Amino acid sequence: RVRTRFAPSPTGFIHLGNIRSALYPWAFARAKGGDFVLRIEDTDLERSTQAAVDVILESMDWLGMKPDEGPYYQMQRMDRYKEVLARLQAAGHVYPCYMSKQELDALRARQEAAREKPRYDGTWRPEPGKTLPPVPEGVQPVLRFKNPKDGVVAWDDKVKGRIEISNAELDDLVIARPDGTPTYNFCVVVDDMDMGITHVIRGDDHVNNTPRQINIFRALGHEPPVYAHLPTVLNEQGEKMSKRNGAKAVTQYRDEGYLADAMINYLARLGWSHGDDEIFSREQFLAWFDLDHLGKSAAQFDEAKLRWVNAQHIKAMPDAELAPLVAGQLQKRGIAQTDERLPAICALFKDRCETTVALAGWARAYYADVQPPQQELDQFVTDAIRPAIASLHDRLKAVSEWNAAAISAAVKQTLAEHGLKMPQLAMPVRVLVMGTHQTPSLDAVLALHHQQKVLDCLRKA
Ligand code: GLU
Repeated sequence: RVRTRFAPSPTGFIHLGNIRSALYPWAFARAKGGDFVLRIEDTDLERSTQAAVDVILESMDWLGMKPDEGPYYQMQRMDRYKEVLARLQAAGHVYPCYMSKQELDALRARQEAAREKPRYDGTWRPEPGKTLPPVPEGVQPVLRFKNPKDGVVAWDDKVKGRIEISNAELDDLVIARPDGTPTYNFCVVVDDMDMGITHVIRGDDHVNNTPRQINIFRALGHEPPVYAHLPTVLNEQGEKMSKRNGAKAVTQYRDEGYLADAMINYLARLGWSHGDDEIFSREQFLAWFDLDHLGKSAAQFDEAKLRWVNAQHIKAMPDAELAPLVAGQLQKRGIAQTDERLPAICALFKDRCETTVALAGWARAYYADVQPPQQELDQFVTDAIRPAIASLHDRLKAVSEWNAAAISAAVKQTLAEHGLKMPQLAMPVRVLVMGTHQTPSLDAVLALHHQQKVLDCLRKA
């Protein structure tokens, strides 16, 4: 059974690049009928907060990436890490190292002067026949993992292909600090082992950790999982995405009127492909997703493309599902009450909207007073047209069954009476009722309004 995980560090911010590292493991578990585990890597006590965890949960919840298990918290698993550490130590895979910071610094300086890669030199590593230095007094040692000296660590990365690292290049990693707390790479291995993770799908900023983690896995007598290291997501300037250089939080896209399914669609394509398919539903994505079509090169975020994808999803979304989202946006803009007209309003305007915020902008005219911009009034609601607007008002007032056909008839009669062409009358009426001269067809726009509201708007002219 496939088991994947998303293992974010809760440091307060989660952008599209971060959430894409959740999307693929989630989708892979779904596609294979497996489990998706959420693990919060909160061992950095200075930077981790519950508020940050909440942001992660909220982002995943919005996008519908529901974990089957978790969240597990690494801080709650400390006893378990120490237990496994003791096991590893008992089996001779771990040794104490008393090298002081000064000694380490001096070692590094020597290596730098010799243009060598900085690495631990094995001073405290026990070997048969080797005499270790005398243990200094009053020093708490770190524990180091006895990395194999010979051979290579190799794996078939699902994105990067075969990777082979010579063990000679890996030094003996610190896996417990002087106070006994385990370090990052060790916790990850214990977790991936305990949680039965079969596929580790994560950002390629972790690819250098992988050979070390594989060696720890083997020392624990476990076969490592399959790895897939995803290329970075770059921002529009071609830099690695980050809060510092302007990346938005995932939830901000929700607030700006993006649909969860459109985000999934867009993010899915940012590093994975299914033939030439650009627009697909959540269900299609989950049915299609595999690890064989992950892209090898960094993907670049493109907000214009995201808007386009969102527009396609808005068009395709049933109006009954769109309406509550638009109602939510209206609510944030102070309009608490909508009604049964909202799905039809969505249907009428959605072709011209890229976001639910834009759609709410149109719907607003149906639930609140519009203030036409002075410039539009000056340009379209001229003195020359006022008599025609007045007679349209009177005709519309006489309409007994308020619908598009009756409205259309009233408009046509008014045009004939005043010798006008459609735009000459339709534009000013649109400005008065909707606040802009560009709208869908006038009879459809007016039919969704209450009759009295239209009359009130026209009377203002
Ligand atoms: N906590 C790590 C991060 O947020 C992920 C570790 C992993 O996926 O192995 O970058």
